[in-house]
Amino acid sequence: MATVALKEVTKVFPGGTVAVDGLDLDVADGEFLVLLGPSGCGKSTVLRIVAGLESPSAGSVLLDGELVNELPPRERRIAMVFQDFALYPHMTVGDNIGFPLKLAGAEPGDRQERTSNVAAALGIGDVLGRRPSQLSGGQRQRVAMGRAIVRQPGLFLMDEPLSNLDSGLRAELRAEISALTRELGVTTIYVTHDQAEALTMADRVAIMRNGVLQDVGSPTQVYSRPATLYVAAFLGSPRMNLLEASVYVQLDRHVTLAIGDQALYLPWDDMRSRRMAHYHGERIVVGMRPEALTPVAPDTPGHRLVGKIRYLEHHGHETLAFLDVGATAVALDEPSIPTQRAAASANAAGRGGLGRLLTRFSKGNRG
Ligand code: ATP
Repeated sequence: MATVALKEVTKVFPGGTVAVDGLDLDVADGEFLVLLGPSGCGKSTVLRIVAGLESPSAGSVLLDGELVNELPPRERRIAMVFQDFALYPHMTVGDNIGFPLKLAGAEPGDRQERTSNVAAALGIGDVLGRRPSQLSGGQRQRVAMGRAIVRQPGLFLMDEPLSNLDSGLRAELRAEISALTRELGVTTIYVTHDQAEALTMADRVAIMRNGVLQDVGSPTQVYSRPATLYVAAFLGSPRMNLLEASVYVQLDRHVTLAIGDQALYLPWDDMRSRRMAHYHGERIVVGMRPEALTPVAPDTPGHRLVGKIRYLEHHGHETLAFLDVGATAVALDEPSIPTQRAAASANAAGRGGLGRLLTRFSKGNRG
């Protein structure tokens, strides 16, 4: 198995593109770490640096505590899986999987046995004699995985390995990859721009933007307590509502958030109030996940904002409501709203323009 440590790693490509900027990142033994970020943020470059396919312009790469900046890829005990699978078309499935063993000089008998075991574990034991062109996309991906694990590497590096597959197969394979790597206990760094993949597969997610690490933590941590506004806005579908507010702590210790021309009162016994009280008199940005908002009728007493529903988006299992926040009460049009309640939270960008707020009506909060 293996640990990975990146210390102040920077990569500047000829021409001046800073692909990775002062990256500090540790991956624990047996951990499944996902590198997540938009296209061009530097994820693949990090992976290639760990693999030894790129050398860092500055900083250190340590595998199992040993500095490997100068170590060639083949001496790093790593296996890489790419999105295009890169199988040898003229070889059978068995030969593809067993190829790394052949390169390593394994005996044919040993090779065959280990290839069969790996193929059986991946559920492709019955297609060993076929060529890649005679396989489905999912089977080809399993062959690529098989070829990566057959040499029992200490570290798996996977670069968007599922991005060429349809969504059903992606969901199936991401569960399989998760299970397989955990079963093998192999340290894995997995690159993706797909947050569903990241949040479902990872022990920890590292989120990058423009070569800079924004946040790293368990899926729950980065989702619930994002370190930066960027991460807050990036994670979640539909996205988190980000509302500008002024914070006031009242004499009775209620916290009031002034949002546009509305005031949202928070009870003091709410932990969030106590955190916000530190910002008395300041402008802050409040993040509210759509699923955290409960739609209520506009005349319901309590802590609420009032917004006007601009449109509804039906998704089968749930309906999203987009609201503008203003002084206008929400019109309750019973047949068009899939719940007897109406919207209760809103985006407020001040007087200059009304913002958009998003909430969800699921079957669960009907009534
Ligand atoms: P994607 O998800 O699209 O693969 P990424 O997050 O993996 O993107 P990288 O491929 O690491 O991003 O690229 C980071 C930046 O470095 C980009 O601006 C890219 O254009 C640039 N870059 C990558 N490889 C090279 C190279 N060999 N020469 C010059 N610039 C490069």
